[in-house]
Amino acid sequence: MMSLSATHLDIQVSAYDVATQQVINPVTFEAHSATLEQAIANVDAITAEFEHIPADVLAVCQQTGKFYPGAEAILTGGDRGKEKALLEKAQVACAPYALITEKSHFLDAIDKLGKPLVVKTCQAGYDGKGQWRVKHDDEVDAIWQEMSEFLAAGTDTTPHAIIAEQMIPFDREVSIIGVRDHHGQCRIYPLTENQHTNGVLTLSVAGKEKSTIQAQAETAFSAIASELDYVGVLAIEFFDVDGTLLVNEIAPRVHNSGHWTQQGCHVSQFENHMRAVAGLPIGDTSLVRPTAMINVLGQASIPTEVLSVNGVTSHWYGKAAKPGRKMGHINVSASSLHELGERLAELAELLPEDAYPGIAQTSHALILN
Ligand code: ATP
Ligand code: MG
Repeated sequence: MMSLSATHLDIQVSAYDVATQQVINPVTFEAHSATLEQAIANVDAITAEFEHIPADVLAVCQQTGKFYPGAEAILTGGDRGKEKALLEKAQVACAPYALITEKSHFLDAIDKLGKPLVVKTCQAGYDGKGQWRVKHDDEVDAIWQEMSEFLAAGTDTTPHAIIAEQMIPFDREVSIIGVRDHHGQCRIYPLTENQHTNGVLTLSVAGKEKSTIQAQAETAFSAIASELDYVGVLAIEFFDVDGTLLVNEIAPRVHNSGHWTQQGCHVSQFENHMRAVAGLPIGDTSLVRPTAMINVLGQASIPTEVLSVNGVTSHWYGKAAKPGRKMGHINVSASSLHELGERLAELAELLPEDAYPGIAQTSHALILN
């Protein structure tokens, strides 16, 4: 999606697949014969679309001096311990937490933070993977067993650690996506309200936010982005606890909860990321129309009937289907929140609740709004 959005800016994009270690065409997935070193030798800019990049690849990119947002930002986003240290430095609030590398730390964390606890691996987690919930004393030993296996799998170059967080009784989850250019200028999209099912994002809605919450999120964005001297799109996920935002995590990249910007804004998160890393002026992030995004998880295709609903666009990623895998998304826009609710009600008729949870409920809430 980044490369598609760059095409009309006359930016040519090649991709490097860290799994196959091949340089590929990002749209057709066709492999080139060039090595990574050859491919990056003559480019103007290099960027990343996820945090879990092998250290040697990251080092090669960083050495060029044209890698944005840079190795430190990527490493911070890929390590919850580094992430918490960044939040402390930027003075942005998050859930009370403790870092764990041995059993006594775990027992102290249970004492200090209380139960229930959310325990997360610092490295390698995504989509709710690498997490445990500690609710009762009799679970502690079995959970520690699994935690100790993760800790033991660390190496000298990538030592493993685990973080325990207080379980936050949040009212809802929201995220802010923004972009920062080479001169430190920021543009920030309107806050997005997100629903997760089994730890995975299923539905996002943008266009409902009150200015006080938006201002809190923007202050956190600016503090974190400037602490990292960030260039590109940065996403921050929050818990909303009675009108106060606590950071859950940051993502140094375009983010699933910003996919709605493709139809909801003049300039999408994908295009703004490419503009920022290429040194072009960053574009308008204001809301053009209320928009919702529905994730397509583990399905073999998107039902074509959804295309007959007004305001709907479908986005298919062309990946091999696996249970729960993010295969694509559906955006739906409208001229008002009420109309967005009506369009979601039409989609709820076409998309089964078990595969696409929360659409009918969100629709009702928007229609009543
Ligand atoms: P992703 O990369 O898909 O955003 P992830 O695997 O990085 O997910 P988190 O975002 O940290 O994991 O957690 C997944 C979900 O678990 C959160 O969106 C939230 O619903 C819940 N969760 C995580 N931490 C806490 C917490 N401290 N208190 C309450 N709920 C939490
Ligand atoms: Mg998350």
